[in-house]
Amino acid sequence: MRTGAFKGCRLCGHNCLVDRFAGQVGRCGAGQKIGLALGVVHHGEEPPLSGVYPGGGSGAIFFTRCNLACAFCQNWQISQTVGAGVEVEVDVLVEVMYQLAEAGVHNINLVSPTPHVAEIAKALERAKNRGFRLPIVYNTGGYDSLRALAIMEGLVDVYLPDIKIGQDPTLAPGEPDSVAMRLFGAGDYAFVNQQAVQEMHRQTGTLTLDGRGLAVRGLLVRHLVLPDNLARTNLVLPWVAERLGTDSFVSLMAQYHPNHRLMRDDASEYRQFLGLTRPLSVREYDRSVDQAWELGLVNTFVQDLSAADNYRPDFSKPIVFN
Ligand code: SF4
Repeated sequence: MRTGAFKGCRLCGHNCLVDRFAGQVGRCGAGQKIGLALGVVHHGEEPPLSGVYPGGGSGAIFFTRCNLACAFCQNWQISQTVGAGVEVEVDVLVEVMYQLAEAGVHNINLVSPTPHVAEIAKALERAKNRGFRLPIVYNTGGYDSLRALAIMEGLVDVYLPDIKIGQDPTLAPGEPDSVAMRLFGAGDYAFVNQQAVQEMHRQTGTLTLDGRGLAVRGLLVRHLVLPDNLARTNLVLPWVAERLGTDSFVSLMAQYHPNHRLMRDDASEYRQFLGLTRPLSVREYDRSVDQAWELGLVNTFVQDLSAADNYRPDFSKPIVFN
């Protein structure tokens, strides 16, 4: 199962069916090798991942060639730019994992891994065979196929998926959603995402923490609240409570900022999403936090609205995170 994943690639919901072994590329543009952008100690993740500053931090490994195309992606310099990063062999990824471990990180945090899961799985197997013991975090946009998750089963300790948007109740599951298409590049995002997140929960269960409050195993979902309720937060939170349980760990993020295509001259193509030209308001965010509490989602992490400035990376600078 863990080999041959590129032959007729079905690693994500795009289901391109291209033969990446034969040099064909699909929507993400990924080839046979791992697209590696950066390995860095990250102190800005949720407390169970980064720990208490200035402690160990999370060992973030950023990959290129994301399978989504979010209009306001804060990592766009590496995720959606042709030629970003370098293509590396499996052993290079193993070495980066060991370098981060030697720096004292609490976990290895694989960021946007989906198009590369077949090679990542080989790296994780090699590292584990050498005795590598840190928890492995699979930090994904959440548009993973069940096939990709079957490859990762048993290798991932903590799943960290986005739930970017709720299912439009006026559409049948899987029916193209024009908002999800425009904002994230995947019209069936909610359908694929809900299946994927439930599978991640089945594999690892509710997040468990050690005595220091650090993530050991389980699921932590992220949801970025958007202006004008464009992410349908009012539908996402009840879905989490009902399908995953009210003890689920949820990171309710306030850090929306009009990045990437929203900053460009051609942003007029997003005219219909007027709210995206401004940050989230305090009232909008507080409404979502209140809903999480009302639903009994007691393990919800909240952010200060200043997160929109504090957590914005710049991958063109030597120090990427402030
Ligand atoms: S990872 Fe997804 S977008 Fe990339 S080639 Fe495979 S199916 Fe297509």
